[in-house]
Amino acid sequence: MKVIVDSARCNGHGECVIEAPDVFDLPDDSDVALVRDEFPDGARRAAVERAAAMCPVAAILIEG
Ligand code: SF4
Repeated sequence: MKVIVDSARCNGHGECVIEAPDVFDLPDDSDVALVRDEFPDGARRAAVERAAAMCPVAAILIEG
């Protein structure tokens, strides 16, 4: 699984960080989420999928 945040879509409200803080990060000085772990373990899939579902602008892409 590869996780991507589309920085052009992200509005920085941080729902993804709440769902999967080990995979996503929103630095204090940023309004775009970063991917902390681009290739998370398969055990994290449910949390990443929840984050993608919660994202209000569909900025989270999951490949594989
Ligand atoms: S939930 Fe979506 S819009 Fe919000 S910070 Fe995460 S990627 Fe960006």
